[in-house]
Amino acid sequence: MPLRLGVIKEPAEGERRVAITPDVLPRLADAGLEVLVATGAGAEARFADDDYAKAGARLVSEPEALAEADILAVVGRPAAEEVHGRQTVVGLLQPLLHPEAMAAFAAGGVDTVSLDGLPRTLPRAQAMDALTSQANVAGYKAVLVATEHFRRYLPLLITAAGTSKPAEVLVLGAGVAGLQAIGTARRLGAVVRGYDVRPAAKGEVQSLGAQFVELTAVGPASGEGGYARALTPEEQAAQQEELAGHIARHDIVITTAQVPGRRPPQLVTAAAVAAMRPGSVIVDMGASDLGGNVAGSRPGQVMETANGVTIVGAGDLPSRLATSASAAYARNVTALLGHLLADGRLVVDLDDEITAGVVITYRGAVVHPATAALLPAAALPKEQP
Ligand code: NAD
Repeated sequence: MPLRLGVIKEPAEGERRVAITPDVLPRLADAGLEVLVATGAGAEARFADDDYAKAGARLVSEPEALAEADILAVVGRPAAEEVHGRQTVVGLLQPLLHPEAMAAFAAGGVDTVSLDGLPRTLPRAQAMDALTSQANVAGYKAVLVATEHFRRYLPLLITAAGTSKPAEVLVLGAGVAGLQAIGTARRLGAVVRGYDVRPAAKGEVQSLGAQFVELTAVGPASGEGGYARALTPEEQAAQQEELAGHIARHDIVITTAQVPGRRPPQLVTAAAVAAMRPGSVIVDMGASDLGGNVAGSRPGQVMETANGVTIVGAGDLPSRLATSASAAYARNVTALLGHLLADGRLVVDLDDEITAGVVITYRGAVVHPATAALLPAAALPKEQP
């Protein structure tokens, strides 16, 4: 019997993405999977049940999809009680931020595969890189969200009614999302500046036609795997203070800074917000339950400060562009499953670099070293034969 891949409507409130889209179903069938789609699973991302059925999926109820699936494809982490032992959950599970949830999966015998553990710099992993595909969507949408709240044009406009000077946009954090935001804001005609703690970002920002902001108070802060390292409290305070002067001169500030497995660093303080001009807009892509890059931002909320600055808590941007985000994500998941499947069976070879990066729990144990390191020894279930 072929392995069954289940697709459900994402349980998290406000999440419009779906993990599998109709266009990848032929590839999943080629890989030997039967796909069960819960009715309405793709509706919020504008993928109709009919399109799944036409592409070869079997439409089932949500409980059936959950009960029958050998592999469950999700975007966000499901609750432990939604899945059952001997099931493999594939998604963006954030194991380093939620190690206890991973231990609970292991204890329940649930194998987990998390796309955020992928070794992203490996060329053969690029088709599976969901962090990149979702960050691209988010960076693009961040600019559009900013323009919705900004009450001026972005480009230089010379009209019979007079001249409108271009808006000045500052992007803090120039990784995948930040670079996409810079490119998008440039295409809309703004004057754009970018900043990052990784020195490698400078050339990338400049190659997009934006200026790179250099701080004198903070040195380079590259970490492992191409990521930034966390700043010390002293470095962070110096960075916040120096950035405040730049922030005050800009009309739109988009923040994207992340450090793997950490709360998003705060880059914009309340004092920096208070120094901005009325009508300015900040979009905080880091805004989540774990905090954000901007003092006072709240996930999913738009706030106006006493000095007329709009702060948008926008940690959910991929969900706001759910069709594009889901299509890209489904291709990433399909590529990863293609890597893990051989002759229609899941093959977990922890000596393989990609597999070792993404498999978090396996046969009752937390096998992902970085996740296991965050758990007390007592919480680590032992591997089952
Ligand atoms: P990320 O989401 O982890 O962080 C976003 C950005 O915030 C990063 O550029 C980071 O340097 C920056 N940042 C963190 N703390 C900061 C602070 N205190 N102040 C200012 N900026 C701060 O990063 P990402 O977008 O996932 O990219 C991480 C790295 O991975 C980059 O080097 C990127 O080029 C690389 N990458 C490589 C590939 C590939 O080789 N195929 C694919 C994707 C990403």
